Amino acid sequence: MKIVHKDKGVYSFSRFHKPVEYVDLGEPVILETEDAVGGQVKSEDTPLEKIDWNRVNKATGPIYVNGVEAGDTLIVDILDIDVASEGVILVVPGAGALAQRSFKPKAKLVKIRDGVAFFNDVNLIIKPMIGTIGVAPEVDAIPTAIPYKHGGNLDCIEVCRGARLYLPVSVDGALFAAGDLHAVQADGELCVSSIEVEGKILLRFNVVKKWKPEWPIVELGDHYSVLVADEDLDRAVEIATEYVVQTLMKAKKWSFEEAYMFSSLGVNIAVNQVVDPKKGVRAILPRNLISIYDLLNPCQ
Ligand code: CA
Repeated sequence: MKIVHKDKGVYSFSRFHKPVEYVDLGEPVILETEDAVGGQVKSEDTPLEKIDWNRVNKATGPIYVNGVEAGDTLIVDILDIDVASEGVILVVPGAGALAQRSFKPKAKLVKIRDGVAFFNDVNLIIKPMIGTIGVAPEVDAIPTAIPYKHGGNLDCIEVCRGARLYLPVSVDGALFAAGDLHAVQADGELCVSSIEVEGKILLRFNVVKKWKPEWPIVELGDHYSVLVADEDLDRAVEIATEYVVQTLMKAKKWSFEEAYMFSSLGVNIAVNQVVDPKKGVRAILPRNLISIYDLLNPCQ
C-alpha cells in the first residue's frame, strides 16, 4: 500500500503544487500527518512566542488522483484514523471565542491511551477527526488555515472514521491533501485549538464524473451535512440554508415556501468552528429525503 510520509506536505491548497504521489480510484492509501503546530510543542514549558507560525497547519500531499478531472466530485472515504499517544492543546491571547479577554498563552500536553484522552481529572472518549482536508481550489492558492469551498481547515467533527466526503474538483487529479488531526473536538472549537495530534489516515478515493457540489458535503450515518464557511457566522448560516432549501425544491419538487417551511422541521444547523479566519457551519439533512445527486450540480 502507498504511504505518504508526513515530510511531504503543503501549507496551501494550490494547482501549482507538484504531486508527491499518484493513486488510482479505489486504491487505499495511508497519509502520515504532523500535528497542527508542526510538532513544535513537546513540552508545556515551550514558549509559545517561539512557535514558527509559518510551520503550522501542514497538510500531507498533494496527491494526484488518477481519473479525476476538473468539474468532477472527488469522493473521499475515511476508512480509519490513528492518533499518537500524546497531543497538545493551546490557548493564545487574541485567539478563540474569547479573543478579547486577558489571559496567558499556555500549552497543555494530553496523554491518550486505549481510546481515552486524559484532561486533568476528566477522561474523554476520543473521536479522531481530520481538521484540514481538501483539494486545489479554483483560485491560485488558499492557505491551509482557511476553510472554503475546496475544503481546507474545516474543523468539522463529522470528518471522522466512517465518513464519506464529497469535494468539488477544480483541477485534473484534484491535488488532495489532509492533516491537522484532532483526537477529540467539540462543535465550535472555542479556545482555538483542540487536542492537536500527529497520526495516520487510511483513505480511499472515488469519483462522480461531471457533477460537483458548490460546498463540501459529508455523508455520515443517516445524514448529509453541507459545510459552509464565511467571515460572518450569520452569513454562513444564510448560505447553508439557501443550499438546502434549493436542494429540497429540486429533490421534492416543492415551492420555495414549502422547502423553506420544511427547513425549520427537518434541517439542523450546527457550528463547526468559530475560531478560524472563516467561521464554519453545517446544514444537516436526513439521507432518506434526498439523493446525493440532489446536492450536486451537473458541469458542462
Ligand atoms: Ca484546524
